[in-house]
This record gives sequence, structure tokens and C-alpha cells, in this order.
Amino acid sequence: MSDEQARPGRPRPDVVAMSPYVPGRPAGEVRRRYSLDHVVKLASNENPFGPSPRAVAAASAALVESNRYPDGGATALRERLAALYGLGRANVIPGNGSDEIILLLALAYLQPGDRAVMAAPPYAIHRSAVATAGGAPILVGLRDYAHDLEAMAAALTDDTKLVFVANPHNPTGTHLGRDALRHFAARIPAGTLLVVDEAYHDYVDDAARHTARDLLDDYPNVVTLRTFSKAHGLAGLRAGYALAHEDVVGALDRIRPPFGLNSAAQAAALAALDDEGHVAYVARENSAGRARIMEIARRHGLETISSETNFVLLRAGPSGDSVALTERLMRRGVIVRPGENLGVPGWIRVSVGTREDLDCFEAALDDVLEACD
Ligand code: PLP
Repeated sequence: MSDEQARPGRPRPDVVAMSPYVPGRPAGEVRRRYSLDHVVKLASNENPFGPSPRAVAAASAALVESNRYPDGGATALRERLAALYGLGRANVIPGNGSDEIILLLALAYLQPGDRAVMAAPPYAIHRSAVATAGGAPILVGLRDYAHDLEAMAAALTDDTKLVFVANPHNPTGTHLGRDALRHFAARIPAGTLLVVDEAYHDYVDDAARHTARDLLDDYPNVVTLRTFSKAHGLAGLRAGYALAHEDVVGALDRIRPPFGLNSAAQAAALAALDDEGHVAYVARENSAGRARIMEIARRHGLETISSETNFVLLRAGPSGDSVALTERLMRRGVIVRPGENLGVPGWIRVSVGTREDLDCFEAALDDVLEACD
């Protein structure tokens, strides 16, 4: 048998050319590698304050019926979300994390070669989903680390079928105001979907918080994405959803895997929606943690970008070597993300941790930067 014949099938050439997603390093691996007793992970924009105890109880109760398939239509969750947003059930589609819905949107709306406009750097899954669907990601540079809506509007062509805006943006944490987004929505042709990914919505300061849901009444081509992975603390269960025109929901319903959202995730998501107090607590702790990271950076004279999320970008000191800084922090038991694989070289992305986590981060950073002086 020749080498060629021995290969287990042949992926599409464009799939071979793709790079796999690089996740944050798992804490256990770092603990073993550097023989550390204690490791804190501030690398994956997780919620360090945990899920609502009510969500945990609901998920545990659902496990008893794990022998049954989940409700494939996630009926109760759709109804609950529809009531919450003043929409019909036909305007809501839950998914296995919002990442699944991003992929479904790309698969449903892009023909090979169709364009999808997004920021450069984008949220990685916006780009990879478009590439997976055979579409062309059109990357439009940020202006002052925020979406350049003017340049994005100028990039629209007849074969642009999707526009992605993460609001707030990942990896920079910047946030677009209500008027800017509405003005942008008005410029998107009716045949192009504007997907506003609001994964970090609950972390936006109260005074600035607004949602693209409110655009749907005037602009049926606006899709709002939300997740239970952030402020609700359910990242490990995988639950997200989209609010959209019923035609969009209908298209995604046709192609989605029938049981994408498992029973425990459905039960936990419903219970999490009932515990608004927990989300408010997480948001409060997060604001305090974010302010503290900014203060630690200021004390060291490190530049930061003002963030409305659960992470902050810090310029990696005078050398700008974020890979080296990440490595030095990791040796001291603190995992952060180097900007190199997020499209922001020279920066590190630090996710908000608990107060104790941030004590460790502060001590490690003091140590590293003093050692370099
Ligand atoms: N959208 C953005 C902008 C994100 O940063 C993330 C996760 O970090 C997600 C979506 C993923 O959400 P989910 O866990 O629901 O797939």
C-alpha cells in the first residue's frame, strides 16, 4: 500500500490549511510541569465565582434522567427566554454554547466564497466558523482597539452575507455605544445578517449597558448572541442562545444537531435565569477585580485597555515580549494568555479571578517585574 492509499481519508484542502484553536493551558498540566502546589488560571475568561447553587442543584437533578434524550427543542428554555425578551418562541434558538450557533450561522448563510466581515483581530471562533463553512473572513482592523464601524461598512459588498461584531469585543474588551451600533445596523443591507455577539453583556457597567435585541424590531437582520458561560458561570455545561427573526431561527433549526443542548445544561440554564441575584453578585465582584487588575498595571506603569468584560489587556512592559512574560508568570503559578495567539502581540490578556487569585497574580507580577529591573 502506498502512503497515499494508507491515509485514513482526505480532509478538504482548506481544512488541512487551518490551525486548531489554542486553548489556555490547563492548570493541572502547569502544576505538574513546574512542580507547583498552587496554580491560578486567568487565561480563559472563565467566571471564577462559580455558578448559582440553584443551577448546580437543577443540573444534578436532571442527571437522574440521563438515560433519556434531552428535549431536542429545549422548549422550556425557549419559552422562558422568549418571555424575558418580549419575543415569540420562534425568535429564540438555544445552542451548545454560543460557539455552536456561530458555526450554524456560518453553515446556513455562507455559500463557498461568500464574505463575512469582522474585526481584526476577531473573536477566534467567528473567523474559524466562517472558514469551516467555506466562506471568506474579511478582517477589518480595529481603531483604538475598538471596532472601526466606518471601515467595516465600507467593506460590505453584494456577496457579504454575515457581519460579526463582538460587543464587548474579545480580545480587547472594548464596547460600542447604543447609538453607534444602531447607526451601523441601519447601514447593513437587508440581505446581510448583522450578528452581535454579547457574550460579556452582563459585565458591562450599568450605565453603558444596552442590547442589540432592541434593534430586532426595526432591523430583522440583526441576530443577538448570548451565553450562559460567563456571568452565569456555566461554561462547562455549554449553553448559549440567539435572538433573531423567525426565518433565521428556522434556518438554524433545520441544520442543528437534534440534541445539541443536553438535559443538565437546559435545567441549569433555566435555574440560572431565576437567580438574578447571583448574576448581580458576579458582576459586582468582576468590576472590583477588573479595577484591581488596572490598578496593579498602573502601579507598574503598564499600559492597559479599558475593558467592559471579565478580562483586561496589559502591555507586556518595555520589552513588549508577552510570550516571555507569560512564561515567567506561569513558572510562578499564574496562567495568563499571551497576545501572540489572540492577534494582539505585545499584550497579555488577564482574566478576572477571585480576590485570592488576584493576590497571586499581583505577587507573581511584582516578582517578575522586579527581577527584570
Ligand atoms: N463569544 C465571545 C465573544 C466569546 O469571547 C466567547 C468565549 O470566550 C464565546 C462567544 C463563547 O461562548 P460559549 O461558551 O457560549 O460558546
